[in-house]
Amino acid sequence: MNTERRLKIAIQKSGRLSESSLKLLERAGLHFARSKDKLFWYGRNLPVDLLLVRDDDIPRLLLEGVCELGIVGENVAAEKELEAAQRRPGAALDTLAPLEFGHCRLMLALPEDQDYTGPKQLEGRRIATSYPQLTARWLQENGVSADIVTLNGAVEIAPSLGTAEAIVDLVSTGTTLRANHLKAVATVLESQAALYRGASTLDNEQQALLDKLVQRIQGVQTARETKYVMLHAPRERIDRISEVLPGAETPTILPLEGQPGRVAIHALCTEQVFWEHLEELKQAGASAILVLPVEKMLA
Ligand code: ATP
Ligand code: ZN
Repeated sequence: MNTERRLKIAIQKSGRLSESSLKLLERAGLHFARSKDKLFWYGRNLPVDLLLVRDDDIPRLLLEGVCELGIVGENVAAEKELEAAQRRPGAALDTLAPLEFGHCRLMLALPEDQDYTGPKQLEGRRIATSYPQLTARWLQENGVSADIVTLNGAVEIAPSLGTAEAIVDLVSTGTTLRANHLKAVATVLESQAALYRGASTLDNEQQALLDKLVQRIQGVQTARETKYVMLHAPRERIDRISEVLPGAETPTILPLEGQPGRVAIHALCTEQVFWEHLEELKQAGASAILVLPVEKMLA
């Protein structure tokens, strides 16, 4: 196959999103010839190659049509999209699917000893952040005018250095904030990793391959939540048990040899199965309850 027809997927080379991104693609059936330090991994079983880059570069690679697909945090995608739209109005990334990993929040944080009364208290203040676009949009939405101090790292030390009165930064557990005597007071953006489509035009064959990949990736996502539940139950409790099974469509009912009053029920549960569900099933008369992971799904 000629090289121009191969698709490229960009993922973070090394960081918080790398492992989950790669695992997702592998579960979607893509195998790459790994090369340790290189930025480029050749796709072995499909004409799809991997580009390993800094997460900040992924939106640009997509917008410029260098890559057809990319996995990056919604925070980075939104920031770079706003930045690009300033240079080129209308520049936008196409979101294909949220991916349920890399969860974090972009938050406004203040020194611990300050009370927060609302966005208006930031009027005329300095806010340090690595996300100037998203911060500016949030300030504008709240009708506040403040100075944005753009820093590429170590944003959380800005208040103690006296270069800003507040910060806007990513938070997942709050440990870094606490270590710097800051507290998160408002959410600017909720984020997780997502799959994006680049701006390049594709021929029919490439489009079909891209659609297939997206469908597989979505299948991996659904399968992760989906469980196969098997149990035994009295025949007269079938309806009650079917109600308890989370997100199950029509369960399969099988007779049990030598036990005319009891059946085996098998169901695909598309919503998360919690311990509480199992306890409720047991109360409804179920026994021998088994919950199995689902490896692959193609709807
Ligand atoms: P790179 O070298 O690729 O630029 P980085 O230092 O910008 O790496 P990481 O710290 O690996 O990036 O974070 C990548 C993404 O992971 C973030 O943009 C965000 O979407 C997500 N993320 C999830 N939790 C957190 C967190 N607690 N702090 C920062 N980012 C997080
Ligand atoms: Zn980065």
